[in-house]
Amino acid sequence: MKVAKFGGSSLANAEQIKKVCKIILDDPQRRIIVVSAPGKRNKADTKVTDMLIACAESFLSTGNADKEIEAVVSRYDEIAKELGLSEDIVETIRADLKSRLTLDTENRGKFVDSMKAAGEDNCAKLVADYLCSIGANARYVNPKDAGLLLSSEYGNAQVLPESYDNLKSLKDMEGILIFPGFFGYSVDGDIVTFSRGGSDITGSILAAAVDAELYENFTDVDCVYSANPNIVSNPEPIVEISYGEMRELSYAGFSVFHEEALVPVYRKGIPVRVKNTNNPSAPGTTIVLKREKITRPVVGIAGDTGFCCIYISKYLMNREIGFGRKVLGILEDEHLSYEHIPSGIDHMSIILRENQLDSATEQRVVERIKNELGVDDITVEHNKALIMVVGGGMQRTIGIAYRITGALAKARINIEIINQGSSEVSIMLGINSDDLVRAINAIYDEFFKLNN
Ligand code: ASP
Repeated sequence: MKVAKFGGSSLANAEQIKKVCKIILDDPQRRIIVVSAPGKRNKADTKVTDMLIACAESFLSTGNADKEIEAVVSRYDEIAKELGLSEDIVETIRADLKSRLTLDTENRGKFVDSMKAAGEDNCAKLVADYLCSIGANARYVNPKDAGLLLSSEYGNAQVLPESYDNLKSLKDMEGILIFPGFFGYSVDGDIVTFSRGGSDITGSILAAAVDAELYENFTDVDCVYSANPNIVSNPEPIVEISYGEMRELSYAGFSVFHEEALVPVYRKGIPVRVKNTNNPSAPGTTIVLKREKITRPVVGIAGDTGFCCIYISKYLMNREIGFGRKVLGILEDEHLSYEHIPSGIDHMSIILRENQLDSATEQRVVERIKNELGVDDITVEHNKALIMVVGGGMQRTIGIAYRITGALAKARINIEIINQGSSEVSIMLGINSDDLVRAINAIYDEFFKLNN
């Protein structure tokens, strides 16, 4: 059995939904289907989820959301008409949206989540209806009936462990099951959503619960590429990649998946395949626990801007027991998460995402580290980029760092920080943001073009 998830761009209009249904029917193994809400039809369009957030916000601030509700209804109306479905489904959707407005608004998060979830919920009903209209045996499954229980963290829910046992029985249900992504229910019976993009998580949870043979994630790209196609022209496709490699790449700018989405399938060792709804015959990229064939040391190169670095120095830092803990304690007090901490005997560099650090927080952190730890010097440098050069084939391979640094030297790019974890699966480089595009191209050429 396969679990297939279709993202918002795959469901943005009737034409896309027809493609989705064809893909579903082409493979009888595709038994559990997770759908997102209709996404953007073109660059300037608005996702249904964003329209629903606008409904909730308008209602909360003015007590009225008629205009916003009608805008959402008209998106579904257009789709239903083109799919040849009866008017009834549109009326049901309008009634559903209006009934959500009658919920208690005291807890804003709870109210907004209930509105947000309407996008996938109604989309799932519509897809199930369309499949039935063309003669398939399909049905909508409500996450509450199926037992998808989540924590009550509105807009950022976590799955509760008992969900996996509850969801197992989906395996024995007949026909094609259309399951709405992005939301589940708290133990008190309230709708709770994952963070944005969370339908990927729903698919992963279902695949793990039913022990699927494969989790297919349909989107609008043929595959994951070895470098960002907006940076490198015609980068090579990645056919197979391990979970570990994917994690390293996605954290530095490869945003194919929701960050938390791979956890449930990873724990079960279920492979994930990224595929394109608009080109389903393309092989896609498969994410596996362990790659069988490693032909090259490097599988991908990712890079992202928006980092800053806190440089700390103190004479005899290495001898001061508890120094690191105290620094990290200050970051914890300020709710700051860090990415890397490369260190030397008397130095420590803490790399953070810049958007967490407004100037007041920055000043407070600097003052506290200065005063509480008596450091000799502390500076914060902004506008940093991180590059991750990733590949399981780098393990025990001589000369990888030499090739990376050589490529950057030839391109006259200064490396400010370099870090290789003990896993040897990735090498991280910290550079100035302005050099990012040139740096990625230089490293890409070295590993993918020049010598292979
Ligand atoms: N529709 C939701 C969002 O736009 C969830 C998803 O598509 O995965 O974030």
